[in-house]
Amino acid sequence: MKRLKVQGLFVIILLLWSACSEKKTDGHKKPIASATGEQPIALVIHGGAGTIRRENMSPEREKAYREKLSEALNAGYAELESGKPALQAVMTAIKVMEDSPLFNAGKGAVFTHDGKNEMDAAIMDGKTRNAGAVAGITTVKNPITAAYEVMVSSPHVFMVGKGAEQFAAEQHLDIVDPEYFRDERRYKQLMRIIDAEKTQLDHSSLREMELEDPYFNDRKYGTVGAVAVDEDGNVAAATSTGGMTNKRYGRVGDVPVIGAGTYADNATCAVSATGHGEFFIRNVVAHEIASIMRYTGKTISDAADEVVMKQLVEMEGSGGVIAVDKNGNIAMPFNSAGMYRGYIKEKGKPHTFIYDDENEGL
Ligand code: ASP
Repeated sequence: MKRLKVQGLFVIILLLWSACSEKKTDGHKKPIASATGEQPIALVIHGGAGTIRRENMSPEREKAYREKLSEALNAGYAELESGKPALQAVMTAIKVMEDSPLFNAGKGAVFTHDGKNEMDAAIMDGKTRNAGAVAGITTVKNPITAAYEVMVSSPHVFMVGKGAEQFAAEQHLDIVDPEYFRDERRYKQLMRIIDAEKTQLDHSSLREMELEDPYFNDRKYGTVGAVAVDEDGNVAAATSTGGMTNKRYGRVGDVPVIGAGTYADNATCAVSATGHGEFFIRNVVAHEIASIMRYTGKTISDAADEVVMKQLVEMEGSGGVIAVDKNGNIAMPFNSAGMYRGYIKEKGKPHTFIYDDENEGL
């Protein structure tokens, strides 16, 4: 009898204990990381890869690039800090660079062979894997906003040319005269390349031209891109470009091709690329990086290196990528001489880099 009583008491204590501990768990329904602010937020950007070398860069020009990269990082980071989604942060950062003639996107986009500025852009949400892209547009002030509208306000993913422009106007986006994008230095660049083509310059003469005229250096690339992770652990990617100088009619690069120049998936990472687009399409670069992570469990930096420093190099496809995963891990590999790039993880601390010998501290 006495034994039974003791057992009963023991059962009651056990029940009370388990009820208490359940209550405790209820109070912590939110994942511990975000409740304690441990979910890292981060923004990474690029302003294009190419033959960017110290010896060809004036201190003023370098300063201008670093300042603009910092401005874009701060603007995007302010969105993340105020609790806005990664999607908003990447758009904001891209718009700052699109509005600057320093980069080959929006104002300052490179010229086609026919002397036009035809732009491509894409954006992707890693949470839903929803995406929007536009190609060959000439009238939308901020092409990234057109890509965003395709994603959120249409049942489609990819719109091109006149149709994309009409759609953008219907969404009340900022529409400008194509002349708005014209940058005289970019035009000069096109003229020099066309001349070079005519006179069939060999490689060494081309190199001489590069040394003489630093602006000639980034004649090919200069695309802008951004990837971010927000306080909910959602990632996003966005890329915007004028493509490649002297591109022929109808040419579209990797940037708006989802999976090639732009890709985002919470399960793996968000990627934005810059470089010789044809190679990035053929290697499906951004998605390849995500797939390596997904199927091999490699880290973001190993996966990005595998594609940029091995697969692309084997094919002689020059360029680079920026990538971030939901834990705030960052990768920024490139196989060209330089890449305008930067990241911000902490308020007021944008880190910017241009050359290949800079310590990124990652
Ligand atoms: N990837 C872009 C394109 O091929 C160019 C660049 O990154 O600057 O259109």
